[in-house]
Amino acid sequence: MADANQKFVTVPHAGPAKAAASERVRDFDEIYASFRVAEGTSQSSRCAQCGVPFCQSGCPLQNNIPDWLRLASEGRIEEAWRLSEATSAMPEICGRICPQDRLCEGACTLEQAGWETVTIGSVEKWLGDQAFDNGWISPLRPLTELGRSIGIIGAGPAGLAAADRLRSAGYAVTIYDRHDRAGGLLTYGIPGFKLEKHVVARRVDRLIEGGVKFRLNTDIGKDIAFDDLRGAHDAVLVATGVYQARRLSAPGCGSNGVVAALDYLIASNRKGFGDAVAAYDDGPLNAESKRVVVIGGGDTAMDCVRTAVRQGATSVTCVYRRDRDNMPGSARETTNAEEEGVRFEWLAAPKAVLGGSDGVTGLRAARMALSAPTLDGRWTVEEAPGGEFDLPADLIIEALGFEPENLPVIFDADDLAVTDWKTLRVAAHGFATTLPGVFAAGDIVRGASLVVWAVRQGQDAAAEIDQWLRNQDSVAA
Ligand SMILES: Cc1cc2nc3c(=O)[nH]c(=O)nc-3n(C[C@H](O)[C@H](O)[C@H](O)COP(=O)(O)OP(=O)(O)OC[C@H]3O[C@@H](n4cnc5c(N)ncnc54)[C@H](O)[C@@H]3O)c2cc1C
Ligand code: SF4
Repeated sequence: MADANQKFVTVPHAGPAKAAASERVRDFDEIYASFRVAEGTSQSSRCAQCGVPFCQSGCPLQNNIPDWLRLASEGRIEEAWRLSEATSAMPEICGRICPQDRLCEGACTLEQAGWETVTIGSVEKWLGDQAFDNGWISPLRPLTELGRSIGIIGAGPAGLAAADRLRSAGYAVTIYDRHDRAGGLLTYGIPGFKLEKHVVARRVDRLIEGGVKFRLNTDIGKDIAFDDLRGAHDAVLVATGVYQARRLSAPGCGSNGVVAALDYLIASNRKGFGDAVAAYDDGPLNAESKRVVVIGGGDTAMDCVRTAVRQGATSVTCVYRRDRDNMPGSARETTNAEEEGVRFEWLAAPKAVLGGSDGVTGLRAARMALSAPTLDGRWTVEEAPGGEFDLPADLIIEALGFEPENLPVIFDADDLAVTDWKTLRVAAHGFATTLPGVFAAGDIVRGASLVVWAVRQGQDAAAEIDQWLRNQDSVAA
């Protein structure tokens, strides 16, 4: 049989169909379609099957990418899916929202050699969608019940991935979350045009059907004391994410009309679910007919500008203090925002919020200049003299990043050690916190990061918890 691979010379790189900007801004649906079967197999066949797969090293989950691309290119789609789900608890979600240009696809040998990367993320999404459509998703059915229970605080990707692995191993798993829906930022942060909510819900449903218990609307530290939770389970995983928003410090920043990015995105996502959201219906968290300025250059800022476009803002401007090459957000999402009509003020930093008691009227910004590269390859910036300018605005959204909440205080647990960045301190090369039987994973360990890293840490923390409990059993025996 002729090799179905290494077709990169004859098969050009092609992504899945993408909705035109003028069409897609009318709703919150995902903008990329899933591949059709012929497209998925043909794009998979471009893989060079490198002896040393750099794509795999570029993927935080170390997915067996060349192997599932080979199987897909040969039309063995279900087998390709089985391989992709072996290393990831949610391949179809990572395939949708990983910044592949910085991870697997950025490391792809073809990309490095000027042939354009294999569309790894889109193939991964397609395999997952095929699996759900064709009933290939295996139910969560532990071979045995171990009679031990794990409490997980946080139903974001780290908590869900850990629950998947722990329940499969036979543990009774309860996930506690202060929100009314599971999914963490997959549900209430990331907008539907990147990740439709039914894609998250079907993953949660699989866990529920497999016996994982969800206790939603339950704030640990408030509704249930952390110590009581520890007493109720054999081990606890803290996967609470990072939610302390960095706020603007400039004259006028507390004015009506200046809002935090996550408040804005949660309101929009809630509207998408059909919830009544007073602060949206009354106006403060609704961009309709407003001139909107978003401050920041990360994924959150990109999600805010594109949400504002869809809500019917009259203009949307993103203000970021570095330039396009030095922004932390995904280049793909910035391009999507530009196509949708967002204007970017690169090298600009907020100086003051303009307006009065009736609300904001604009943002005064200073022109910045790149000065010197830092160790992480980004550039520091300094104010360029005489470069102040005003941007008109009725709504200013602060998307300046997140820090961890003060968990030792919230949990009333002085012995729960944190790092200088207020993330939870865990053992080197592991996930054990300074409290026996308490582990941590996801953003609360890494700081604001990526879904794929949360999944990786959730899975690895589950393996460590399993080992820890087994060691305890053998000591007790
Ligand atoms: C707007 C936005 C867009 C993003 N876009 C992308 C993207 O495109 N691609 C990407 O890879 N990453 C993206 N990220 C980052 C990604 O969402 C996070 O890295 C990831 O969700 C972290 O997962 P987690 O499970 O650690 O935490 P989270 O997803 O934050 O989940 C934590 C959960 O813990 C719950 N919780 C917290 N404290 C308590 C408590 N005391 N009691 C009970 N429950 C509690 C919270 O309600 C939440 O549900 C984005 C982030 C934001 C904010
Ligand atoms: S999980 Fe993310 S980085 Fe890994 S192969 Fe999938 S899209 Fe690429």
